Amino acid sequence: MAYDFDLFVIGGGSAGVRCGRIAAGHGARVAVAEERFWGGTCVNVGCVPKKLLVQAAEYGAWADDSRGFGWDITRGGHDWTALIAAKDREIGRLTGVYRTLLEGAGATVFETRARFLDPHTIEVGNHRVTAERVVIAVGGHPVRPVIPGAEHGIVSDDAFYLERLPRHVAILGGGYIGVEFAGIFAGLGAQVDLVCRQPLLLRGFDEELREGLVEAMQEQGITLHLRCNIKDVEAKGDRRHALLSDGTRLETDLVLFAVGRQPNVAGLGLERAGVEINSFGAVCIDETWRTNQPHIFAIGDVTDRLNLTPVATAEGHSLADLLYGGPERHWNFAQVPTAVFSVPPIGTVGLTEAAAVERGTLDIYTTRFTPMRYTLAQRNRRALMKLVVDQASQRVLGVHMLGDDAPEIIQGMAVAMTAGATKADFDRTVGVHPTAAEEFVTMRTRTRVAGVARAAE
Ligand code: NDP
Repeated sequence: MAYDFDLFVIGGGSAGVRCGRIAAGHGARVAVAEERFWGGTCVNVGCVPKKLLVQAAEYGAWADDSRGFGWDITRGGHDWTALIAAKDREIGRLTGVYRTLLEGAGATVFETRARFLDPHTIEVGNHRVTAERVVIAVGGHPVRPVIPGAEHGIVSDDAFYLERLPRHVAILGGGYIGVEFAGIFAGLGAQVDLVCRQPLLLRGFDEELREGLVEAMQEQGITLHLRCNIKDVEAKGDRRHALLSDGTRLETDLVLFAVGRQPNVAGLGLERAGVEINSFGAVCIDETWRTNQPHIFAIGDVTDRLNLTPVATAEGHSLADLLYGGPERHWNFAQVPTAVFSVPPIGTVGLTEAAAVERGTLDIYTTRFTPMRYTLAQRNRRALMKLVVDQASQRVLGVHMLGDDAPEIIQGMAVAMTAGATKADFDRTVGVHPTAAEEFVTMRTRTRVAGVARAAE
């Protein structure tokens, strides 16, 4: 049968655009449909605008710190409207670039919703098209908790378009988004209450980093309500009243829910295509991104595995190569580095101490110090760095950092991990002085051994 397209990609986010662009580059007849915004979550309501807001939030503290270096800069007011307008201009530019890249590669673009009519037929706007293969790359969306008054709160998508900076914000959720927005709002001058049901923020990250982050956020003036939840939210005029599970009542301008994201499968017609999803709504795939239908694939957040942009783009690229004969590339998905743009930020790659200790005895190296900048600034902000090393093989299993530039530093550490570096490799690497990063190659004395009892069992 002759199809209209070799490949139809549903969703023009990080995964879909990369897949469509590379497949078109290999000569496939490609179409990509995007109903909302090119570049998807990352470019429009995720990583990119988030980082711009994080950067905006840094300037106030820098103005304060500059006095320690002889400047007489005084912190002035902040214009939220100007910031959002500048952010929107940059996002508008980037989203245009994404569309141009696709068209430049020869793909047909549809700026409308697409859904399956049957396994090979897609309804896209008023058209019906057929495709030999289909890629589902529709991403996810932030969810609200199931509590009374949840409609009175906002989610991260809305936070990027607020008309004014709230004076007081309550945030629910101690994951990436809750932690990052707490830092943004606090840095821009708002009073922030962060509510997290765990004893520490960022479940799944290394425990020492999580403890360090709690201290750092409290130092930043953020009020943490740990082991706590929001039971209900009431709207009274412009104000929001949140009742916490410990009985505390918070009266705020804004409640932000940051309690996770779910795949965007509703209304996609997956049942007509016969594509299986799991109980969470994520599209089920095998190790080559293939669904239960041999010609339909799914990549990125709609598969709900590692919901990170670089993973989504890597998947899109690899799938296009796999289907249309590009060079085979083996990504190291086992050790994916990640960053949280908190204040200060976190960079991490590999196993946490708690996960690594399950495998055997560990040598743990840690260091805490005040970065040079904060000595003259007289700011109480400490950096924490940690190496988790397998004692038997001396392989470095995990590298963790809380401190300025941690996301930049961890990228290089991830290369070392992918190359299988041992502690001896770190030790024979010459440091860059004076930097915080050099601590990773100068931690000579083991802080402690972990997991001896388990290994002896
Ligand atoms: P996360 O899954 O990271 O965190 C969700 C938080 O909400 C956790 O603290 C979780 O607690 C809590 N939570 C979940 N359900 C409830 C509930 N019903 N009541 C109270 N608390 C609840 O989700 P985010 O929304 O922060 O981010 C979504 C994903 O987006 C991330 O996991 C990440 O993949 C991606 N992302 C990546 C970023 C980056 O790379 N820097 C930045 C932002 C997002 P518990 O731990 O107990 O489940």
